[in-house]
Amino acid sequence: MRLMAVLAHPDDESLGIGGTLAAYAARGVETYVVTATRGERGRYFDNEHRPSDAEVGRVREAELRAAARELGVREVALLDYVDGELDRADPHEAVGRIVAQLRRVRPQVVVTFDPFGAYGHPDHVAICQLTTAAVVAAADPGSPSDAAPHRVSKLYYFVTAERRWAVYQSVFKRLTSRVDGEERAAVAWPGWAVSAALDTRSHWPTVWRAVRCHATQLAVYAGLGALTPEQHEALWGSETFYRVFSSVNGGRSREADLFAGVR
Ligand SMILES: [Zn+2]
Repeated sequence: MRLMAVLAHPDDESLGIGGTLAAYAARGVETYVVTATRGERGRYFDNEHRPSDAEVGRVREAELRAAARELGVREVALLDYVDGELDRADPHEAVGRIVAQLRRVRPQVVVTFDPFGAYGHPDHVAICQLTTAAVVAAADPGSPSDAAPHRVSKLYYFVTAERRWAVYQSVFKRLTSRVDGEERAAVAWPGWAVSAALDTRSHWPTVWRAVRCHATQLAVYAGLGALTPEQHEALWGSETFYRVFSSVNGGRSREADLFAGVR
């Protein structure tokens, strides 16, 4: 069994779906993380002595690789896009890069951002669209690539419901993106639209170790060190998904396993 997560920045894997990656790795599923950018335009500690973007990218890639090791991820691949510009990349080329990863690794299950990009981040929105297109293209024998076509069995968007956003934003900050002069806030999914919920409570210490690998991003959150085990469990103890499609199962009941129906 193979699970591939296609994401935008270093730290998306730990803060977004760290529990899922840790839980499946512990079960013996091979997990792969594909990250579109190195996050080189993101925060660098308190931003006071900020080195070049290239250096920030180098440090953040190392943080990503360290976090992935904690989560038991088998392999990290970078797509080499510029942080903050993914929605202006050539879409054919970007889809092609993801297709190449899908055809090489041949995962049954793929996970990416939801169409709102969690809180409207343009890179998150873009990776959702590009990954969805790539899953379709990877199965198409007519798509240009040397590798054999591959049909993903299930595609999921990871989604956040009201309660987890409340906990998350109380610990970190109110998450917003400013795009074209307009502020975008975190988008909570209605509980009824959640098609899979994973119990990842027993993995929260692993997720917390992975999250802490992203020191450049966390240095400013003084309150993080004082979280109680209950708060950790609320943050990392359950992860929820919307099933975009499945060629192996269906129905209205909520799944507890992303591989439900896969062989
Ligand atoms: Zn991100």
